[in-house]
Amino acid sequence: MTLVHGWGRYPVYESEVCAPSSSDEVPALAKASTDFVARGAGRSYGDAAIGTVRTISTRALDRVRSFDPATGRIVADAGVLLADLIRTFLPQGFFPKVVPGTRFVTIGAAIAADIHGKNHHRAGGFGDHVESLLLATVDGGVLRASREENSDVFWATIGGMGLTGIILEATLCFQRVETGWIRQKTIVGSDLAATMAVFEANSAATYSVAWIDGLARGAKLGRSLIYLGEHAKRGELDNKAANRLFPEIGHPRLSIPFTLPNFVLNPISVAAFNEAYFRMGARKAGSRIVVGADPYFFPLDGIGEWNRIYGRRGFVQHQCVIPDKTAASALSDMLDLITRRGDASFLAVLKKLGPAQGLLSFPLEGYTLALDFAVKPGLFPFLDALDKIVVKAGGRLYLAKDSRQSRATFEAGYPALERFRQVRRALDPSGRISSRLSQRLGL
Ligand SMILES: Cc1cc2nc3c(=O)[nH]c(=O)nc-3n(C[C@H](O)[C@H](O)[C@H](O)COP(=O)(O)OP(=O)(O)OC[C@H]3O[C@@H](n4cnc5c(N)ncnc54)[C@H](O)[C@@H]3O)c2cc1C
Repeated sequence: MTLVHGWGRYPVYESEVCAPSSSDEVPALAKASTDFVARGAGRSYGDAAIGTVRTISTRALDRVRSFDPATGRIVADAGVLLADLIRTFLPQGFFPKVVPGTRFVTIGAAIAADIHGKNHHRAGGFGDHVESLLLATVDGGVLRASREENSDVFWATIGGMGLTGIILEATLCFQRVETGWIRQKTIVGSDLAATMAVFEANSAATYSVAWIDGLARGAKLGRSLIYLGEHAKRGELDNKAANRLFPEIGHPRLSIPFTLPNFVLNPISVAAFNEAYFRMGARKAGSRIVVGADPYFFPLDGIGEWNRIYGRRGFVQHQCVIPDKTAASALSDMLDLITRRGDASFLAVLKKLGPAQGLLSFPLEGYTLALDFAVKPGLFPFLDALDKIVVKAGGRLYLAKDSRQSRATFEAGYPALERFRQVRRALDPSGRISSRLSQRLGL
């Protein structure tokens, strides 16, 4: 048995970890296992990638099977990291159509969580760009699923958090890009209403994301820096950037060598950081700059193991999405509670999402707010209060970030749950696939 946890280092469970060395071994392993779930790079925050008895690592399923430069179509094993695909294909002028805030995620898990990027309102989720997948099922078989073939399994697997089987391989499409640079424009949102107005006025922007000052109160509640981005064309670059059309996608430049004491991140240090960060960003507002894809999409990947800064007890992320209609008042209520408590982290992110098709996919048309909190006494009742606002507003919480929501909150947020359960029962009648998350939520 091994101690296993997600990116938030909370919760920690014992699990037997198996690591098949190729996809050929997976069907027999799935047939011989009970109470198991697949695991990719362990970048989901909570308990989704921890099997109740066995955790099957897909990291050795790392082959790119084919690439068609005419269409950008890639066939890859589920354990291949987005980081490796970007490093290989960006210099050839191809980039994923959807990327999350870290490139260290596997293809299998990007599908299983139907991850979203800063362009969900325009491009949809990762699953929208998957043509087909191969799924190892509990009976030892391998099933091909796509929009045309086994489509019920396809839509249950996209966003299904590993609970339909183990994805072995996927066929997906990358987009063509002329350069590896992003034209970035920063806009200041003086409060929540102004921030949301900027999103609405810039809905045609390819990428948009806001950093929210989770400690600003009163008239400044919800003040933010909004970053808009477009893939830069060759002719839009200055000489220096044009000489290096595809800047290097780097390795972590800094690393947190050990878990920091719990007191390092305190309201004073975070408030000081937020104030300095906001002022620095506001000074650059209005100007257009060109930044590499790496720092634009994956700013935190530059700091190895940054999840250690929250101390030994770990941290949780509360990520909700609120429908457009109720977003302004629910987000305002949530930010009000958060700022009164005063210990939100400096990582508070607001994005626009569009609709999604996966039965358990997180996105819906509205605003998603994500905030990190160090685990400490009193935190969970406080997060329950945030959940109440989310549920009342018709929203939901993201399973890939979750480690503590209640069954009732989950069930209220996912209306296609019963259809998901039907597909799951047909594939796995005795419920042999089981993660700590599925057990907790009765999935
Ligand atoms: C810094 C940071 C930023 C992030 N930003 C975003 C963001 O912007 N948008 C977003 O959507 N997410 C974001 N995430 C979350 C992350 O993209 C997802 O949790 C992703 O699923 C993690 O991939 P992984 O390979 O680490 O998977 P894991 O954490 O190992 O697994 C995640 C889920 O996928 C399942 N799974 C893994 N492999 C397979 C397989 N082969 N077959 C079937 N199921 C499988 C697991 O059972 C589990 O349920 C972020 C995470 C971090 C740490």
